[in-house]
Amino acid sequence: MDSHTFTLICVYILSGLLGLCVGSFLNVVIYRLPNNMSLANPGSHCTSCQYSLRWYDNIPVVSYLLLGGKCRKCKSRISPRYMLVELLNGVLWVLSVALFWESSVVYACAAAIVSSALICIFFIDLEHMLIYNRFTLIVAAGGIAAMFTDSGTAWYDHLIGAAAGGLIFLALYYGAITVLKKEGLGFGDVKYAAAAGLLLGWQKFILAMLLASVVAAIVMSALNRIQKADKQTEHPFGPYLTAGTLIAMLAGDAIIAWYAGFLMNLIM
Ligand SMILES: [Zn+2]
Repeated sequence: MDSHTFTLICVYILSGLLGLCVGSFLNVVIYRLPNNMSLANPGSHCTSCQYSLRWYDNIPVVSYLLLGGKCRKCKSRISPRYMLVELLNGVLWVLSVALFWESSVVYACAAAIVSSALICIFFIDLEHMLIYNRFTLIVAAGGIAAMFTDSGTAWYDHLIGAAAGGLIFLALYYGAITVLKKEGLGFGDVKYAAAAGLLLGWQKFILAMLLASVVAAIVMSALNRIQKADKQTEHPFGPYLTAGTLIAMLAGDAIIAWYAGFLMNLIM
């Protein structure tokens, strides 16, 4: 094995381990931020019996599996979301590094950090229907980094993406108020769409919206089948757009290239 491959493998392993630990912190953010709790104090504890977690209860994924998803003291069930968020963040950090490290270290790091912000937006919006500005700002900062380091998309495509995202969702926002006489989406979605457009560039932003619509259609038809049509629950669009953003950021260039090749084959 040459030294270049060895370095890359070390970077993969380190980013995976670091990603798991950061994922553990994201759980704290996702739970505490919407409940107006301090992120630092008190330390991690069981939400049923207040048992303070020891260091060995706090090892990402491992502790959850060893404890069988239950509190060590009171045995009440801990949501599998905690392990899911840790795993997801670890995997996304490895993917960011694996996909982008060799073309741009800055873009790889930006993609990893943005992935973590997207995880927070996804789970908080899903439960509380709101998108915090601080996460949108992280996505926008990733967008500024992408303007200079995203090899697949020109800098002005990112600016066009920001304008397109903001304007499309602004139109949807006022359209819903005028036509449906209610807020179809929050203003947080408009700001988020502008940030996502800046991050992705307009080509990958369109892809993200398509992916979001497809996933939303599948999930909603599945939910309607389960809970009958009379129970109309409100679906925030944010989580779908977040998932679409994530896929477009990581695999957008490949998907667009594959689709362009597919079209060429049809024509030729
Ligand atoms: Zn407990």
